Amino acid sequence: MRDITLQVRGSKGYDPVTGAISFPIYQSATFRHPALHQSTGYDYSRVKNPTREELENSVAALERGSRCWAFSSGMAGIGALLKLFRTGDHILLSEDLYGGTVRICNAIYSKFGISFEYVDTSDIEVVKASIKNNTKAIFVETPSNPMMLVSDIAAISELAHAHQALLIVDNTFLSPHFQKPLTLGADIVIHSGTKYLCGHNDVVAGLVIVKDIPPVIDELDLIYKSEGASLGPFDSWLMLRSIKTLALRVERQEQNALLLASWLKTLSTVTDVYYVGLKDHPSYELTLKQTTGFGGMISFKVKSAKIAAEALGKLKLVYFAESLGGVETLLTYPIEQTHAEAPKELLARVGVDDRLLRLSVGIEDVEDLKEDLEQALAE
Ligand SMILES: *Cc1c(COP(=O)(O)O)cnc(C)c1O
Repeated sequence: MRDITLQVRGSKGYDPVTGAISFPIYQSATFRHPALHQSTGYDYSRVKNPTREELENSVAALERGSRCWAFSSGMAGIGALLKLFRTGDHILLSEDLYGGTVRICNAIYSKFGISFEYVDTSDIEVVKASIKNNTKAIFVETPSNPMMLVSDIAAISELAHAHQALLIVDNTFLSPHFQKPLTLGADIVIHSGTKYLCGHNDVVAGLVIVKDIPPVIDELDLIYKSEGASLGPFDSWLMLRSIKTLALRVERQEQNALLLASWLKTLSTVTDVYYVGLKDHPSYELTLKQTTGFGGMISFKVKSAKIAAEALGKLKLVYFAESLGGVETLLTYPIEQTHAEAPKELLARVGVDDRLLRLSVGIEDVEDLKEDLEQALAE
């Protein structure tokens, strides 16, 4: 089955018992056993639930992974992944990274003796020079949040594997519709399912997808059932429903984003536009090589912090809100929202400042979006 069909149909698709073509919501915590040592395959929903299983199998297929676990948030998924590591391990991460990922590493997992180092993973020489004997994983976000830097997944996976380290890719920004890191050599993919996979700003969820690496799969199974941050049946169903329109949504978002990115450049108050679909983006060629699309995320800088701050209050159609990937266009102020708690030194290094705005482009009529942004960004 081709991707778009797979998105619409899901893994099993319909309910084999009733023929229902909307996969049922198995809103049950526990499952009856016919007799001792007999099970339908489902015992208790923290461990396995049929609706969640359909979501997990569908996303595993879309990412070309062998297993997937659906979590109650993207951060719960990242937390589970970090538990694969132990005292003395070193993890290399992209320096331009979702703020919550920096926080969970620095504020929580560093307490257990894991060391985290943030480097420019868009520069393969820097990655090469930063790997140590105890480096057990490289965690990459590409395109990165919010500066839209692109890392070469295939090249980094070669480096990682030469050192017996795992390559983990946060694929939230492009979704499996545009980028499949496992096919490029990554071992693990993480998603904030809250974003493009859900796509309607109404569910918080996370997904972890792993290649056929039995020891990693066994350990994640153990972590998942022991910790219990599993996604509920109703939210799993909402995501299954959302994924049916993934291609339609993300392709429309990309179409709008391409128009907006080049248009933003023409505004007198805009000084820089960061969008991987612009031909002058430093990684345009690499993007063409490793993805099948540019996605709908644009960051840009305006002339002054005053213009940025005032724009947020002047918006009429676009929402000033955190998050991304939904059908509604959102404008975010990274320095005060997604990246408020990231170390100042790190933000300065990557260029996140008080003139930077991040736009998650929705599926509205692009002319309405232009009109609203034009008035909001006017001096
Ligand atoms: C939102 C986000 C996360 C965290 O996911 P939640 O679902 O909010 O817990 C992780 N990575 C990226 C790139 C994100 O945008």
